[in-house]
Amino acid sequence: MKKVNIIVIGPPGAGKGTQSERISGELGIPHISTGDMLRQHSDLETEHGMARDYMDRGDLVPDKIVYSILDHRLKKRDTENGFVLDGFPRDISQARHLESMEKIDAVISLEVDKNNVIRRLTGRRICDSCGKTFHLDYKPPVKEGVCDKCGSDLVQREDDKKDVIEQRLKKYRDKTLPLKEFYRKKGVLRKVDGNKDIEAVWNDIKEMIEEFLR
Ligand code: ADP
Ligand code: ADP
Ligand code: ZN
Repeated sequence: MKKVNIIVIGPPGAGKGTQSERISGELGIPHISTGDMLRQHSDLETEHGMARDYMDRGDLVPDKIVYSILDHRLKKRDTENGFVLDGFPRDISQARHLESMEKIDAVISLEVDKNNVIRRLTGRRICDSCGKTFHLDYKPPVKEGVCDKCGSDLVQREDDKKDVIEQRLKKYRDKTLPLKEFYRKKGVLRKVDGNKDIEAVWNDIKEMIEEFLR
């Protein structure tokens, strides 16, 4: 199979993680989420643990920390057939950094209305232990409050609380949104209507992937 490097962008709560997981399974390439990696580092209180302060405020973590984690991850053997990147780049300078290392084949932009984004963020619950994502209404676990995969407790992310959500949306508008124009000019931007339900969005993405792999 030829190498395929995909980026999924969209506002917080758009469904980037959910759809990236599907793409990863379908194409057999790793799902690389800078948000997940940063949360793991904060849980483990590694040298990058101070990232948590920025995340809990809804601010972007400094590039130095993010680059050190991402660059290391991209060097792993499992990226030899490509990767699906979720949560990176977050601004133009991160996009340039990535460009200096990897060629990007497609940037899938999940287009989701603000009211849906808010509903998805406030109802999101994640597993305390393995990080798997659920939603109170749209993707409830089999047993309330418990992870389907590992049986641990489901919790709300600190940054999914109301006041932090506003700050994250502001950062998205100011910093991340301009990436769409950046990638459109390069001819790799592909917009998908992310307002539909999880299966419907996945079907649209799958069709699109089949088309550009052809
Ligand atoms: P992101 O990675 O963009 O922040 P997630 O994939 O974590 O987004 O999704 C945010 C929340 O919305 C999760 O609780 C997830 O289960 C739910 N969700 C994801 N996609 C959809 C969808 N198409 N319709 C309804 N809920 C969704
Ligand atoms: P969401 O998809 O809901 O926005 P993420 O899990 O992608 O959430 O990111 C959570 C937080 O992690 C961000 O608000 C930010 O503080 C930090 N973060 C994730 N990716 C990056 C990045 N590429 N650059 C800087 N900060 C990041
Ligand atoms: Zn779990």
